[in-house]
Amino acid sequence: MQELTHFINGEKTTGTSGRFADIQSPATGEKLATVPLATKDEIDAAVAKAAEAQIGWAATNPQKRARVMMKFAALINEHMDTLAELVSREHGKTLPDARGDVQRGLEVVEVCMGAPHMLKGEYTDAGGPGIDLYSMRQPLGVVAGITPFNFPAMIPLWKMAPALSCGNAMILKPSERVPSTALYLAELLQQAGLPDGVLQVVNGDKEAVDALLDNDTIQAVGFVGSTPIAQYIYGRAATNGKRAQCFGGAKNHMLIMPDADLDKAADALMGAGFGAAGERCMAISVAVPVGQETADRLIEKLVPRIEKLKVGPYTAGEDIDFGPVITPAAKSRIEGLIDSGVAQGAKLVTDGRGLTLQGYESGNFVGPTLFDNVTADMDIYQEEIFGPVLSTVRMDTYEDALTLVRDNAYGNGTAIYTADGDTARDFAHRVNVGMVGINFPIPVPLSYHSFGGWKKSAFGDLNQYGPDAFKFYTRTKTVTARWFSGIKDGGEFNFKAMD
Ligand code: NAD
Repeated sequence: MQELTHFINGEKTTGTSGRFADIQSPATGEKLATVPLATKDEIDAAVAKAAEAQIGWAATNPQKRARVMMKFAALINEHMDTLAELVSREHGKTLPDARGDVQRGLEVVEVCMGAPHMLKGEYTDAGGPGIDLYSMRQPLGVVAGITPFNFPAMIPLWKMAPALSCGNAMILKPSERVPSTALYLAELLQQAGLPDGVLQVVNGDKEAVDALLDNDTIQAVGFVGSTPIAQYIYGRAATNGKRAQCFGGAKNHMLIMPDADLDKAADALMGAGFGAAGERCMAISVAVPVGQETADRLIEKLVPRIEKLKVGPYTAGEDIDFGPVITPAAKSRIEGLIDSGVAQGAKLVTDGRGLTLQGYESGNFVGPTLFDNVTADMDIYQEEIFGPVLSTVRMDTYEDALTLVRDNAYGNGTAIYTADGDTARDFAHRVNVGMVGINFPIPVPLSYHSFGGWKKSAFGDLNQYGPDAFKFYTRTKTVTARWFSGIKDGGEFNFKAMD
């Protein structure tokens, strides 16, 4: 049985708490490893060492820090298959999807190669007589990253690359269900030249997270996970005077207008609804066809496509469409929600409950599930299911469909399928959601834009990666400077305007 470690001060470090979490293969149920759960003392010691290491790292010029990112990117490419295998083994997603997980994280590392440009300050020449002003972006110090299970590579990379390239040290607390990828990335960063202690990967659960939130040295917290935990972490971090951005759950809708290309919309819903077994914060979990005829035609197109989907372990080949969900508890929660949909009157079109695969009887597999005639009061509409379950809510008009999305508690992503530019443009302007796709199902912005939801999908300020990340991980200092050519008039005692 493999016993995983932390990665502290450049070394694999055995946990001292005596507390461990099991890591189980989602596909087989087999226990793969145990991961140590850090105590408050272990966290505090890792933070103290990071604070020492951060001083030298902050003093390293930005271009040299960027060169570490360049080497890191090359190493990620070189080790892509190993990283993807680690992702799939612990998370269960298919290998092509796992490579996408690494790739979308790598793209943020690539943008961080240009960090010196993003860290340039502002300058006002002669803002007053003989007075110049300049602003600089300085690192915060030691920051914390707390990440979820569903993107074991991408989200740790979204956190560590901007934080480190801005000159901070980071304590990364990955999900205790999928820690191996983050540990491996820390080793690659060390090979890329990152000084020891600047990135500390400390594994743990609530005890470790609370220790980070209460540690006075931690200046900022970047969190991604479920909404209740995001809200809790935002509140505690803010109360303790820390900068915090906490990204939460989602319920993403796709509007399908009567003029949409329904084959393209149905194809898009396969990947966006069922890819990664629906365990994506940008998954489309609600299809909103506008008009009864659109709805009938859409369902007709979805059913044969769903029947062709292949569910299986990542080891079964690259033509598998999606794998198991993360834990037996997740499977039974999803199946319980499907039961509730039936009990509350939704029409179950395809039923993914009770799926077992020969040879993988202990795997957490749930088949693709489609509901029709879902209404906004049902639990399957209200809750983030985080499984391969697509709900169809029929709406009579575009305005009703838009109102449905606007009234939903979450606001991470949304999409519209239409042939009409005017409708698409109106939707993009009026919808209160952070990321919008027009004939594009999963609108995760490219790494030089930035990622973030609205409403209960995000707490705090500024988005992840892109230009916002360089603002989040630095603070501005502004200097007003005057160099005297000689004091002719003696001292000044009044607070003066610069005229
Ligand atoms: P989670 O909230 O259970 O866990 C996230 C992190 O918080 C983990 O590191 C975990 O150890 C820690 N944590 C869990 N419970 C805690 C507690 N009580 N106190 C302190 N820390 C705690 O989320 P998850 O199940 O790992 O991930 C799935 C969720 O993440 C979904 O809701 C999904 O929508 C969301 N998500 C959001 C985004 C986004 O960018 N908005 C991206 C990916 C995933």
